Amino acid sequence: MSAEKVKCLIIGSGPAGYTAAIYASRANLQPVLYEGIQPGGQLTTTTEIDNFPGYPKGIDGQEMMNELKEQSMRFGTDVRFGLVTSADLSERPFKIVVDEEKEILADTIIIATGATAKYLGLESEEKYKGQGVSACATCDGFFYKGKDVAVVGGGDTACEEASYLAGLCNKVYLIVRRDVLRASKAMQDRVKATPNIEILWQHNTKEITGTPMGGVNGAILVHKNGTEKKIDIHGYFVAIGHHPNSELFSKWIEVNEEGYIITEGKSSKTKVPGVFAAGDVQDPHYRQAVTAAGSGCMAAIDAERFLSENK
Ligand code: NDP
Repeated sequence: MSAEKVKCLIIGSGPAGYTAAIYASRANLQPVLYEGIQPGGQLTTTTEIDNFPGYPKGIDGQEMMNELKEQSMRFGTDVRFGLVTSADLSERPFKIVVDEEKEILADTIIIATGATAKYLGLESEEKYKGQGVSACATCDGFFYKGKDVAVVGGGDTACEEASYLAGLCNKVYLIVRRDVLRASKAMQDRVKATPNIEILWQHNTKEITGTPMGGVNGAILVHKNGTEKKIDIHGYFVAIGHHPNSELFSKWIEVNEEGYIITEGKSSKTKVPGVFAAGDVQDPHYRQAVTAAGSGCMAAIDAERFLSENK
């Protein structure tokens, strides 16, 4: 079967991917967008989004992503379910394989593959993944209604997850490794004002414990001063940040030590002419839905200019 030719291939379906698609389709680049493993991206695992301009009353994450998708399709974006499994960016057109079988030849590529949740790396964490250990409170919180749970992390995600779980669960422990939270002041205030959230400052997790039947029943924590503490919990939520999904492309383009794609100056251009990056996969600093959307717009404009200069 011959490979399909595409002028502009967008990889990823978060705010960066869909915004790139809106701009690219309006510029007549006939973009094809592959949604990847989590259609809609990270925002589909969050609840209310209160800081995206244009939604004065806030909007549900899934709903916002559905609207972005619809908007991109209105201008003709070909949105497809599929995962890019390999990439050859050595020459143009770039060779991309989807789901290990479908080959695409793309004149330009916009990488908007986002970032994925990090885990602590404990053996016990791995053992109970999906059986009490989760990286998504809005996906799994429901299972712990009325029970005690813990969230690890001190950033906005951890605070948001703790607040969400506090509305469902009996008690939420927030396990923080330092004596300060990294989260924004508003999130810190919210967490501190929630009576059923207890912050365990300067604690790290030594082990997550469970029952012989499977399922978490507690965690052993260690304070900075060396003292151990056992908490009884049924759910353990990891919210310690993310790593960028750039592995498929890092052989060809430049990434920093954490794997974030390096773009040129204020543009979305990668080291490979014709390949652009947008959203969390290239942004270690801001990582907001609105900044991702903005960089998606930039990538589409850069792709359009590249195509008109390289006919
Ligand atoms: P962050 O990188 O901001 O925070 C990660 C947190 O996890 C830090 O408190 C860090 O501790 C802690 N941590 C990291 N590794 C470990 C470990 N091994 N053990 C224990 N704790 C650990 O990630 P987030 O996902 O919270 O946020 C990412 C970005 O997304 C931020 O820019 C944030 O502002 C944004 N965001 C915004 C939201 C909103 O505006 N509504 C909602 C969610 C996220 P330490 O502080 O000690 O480094």
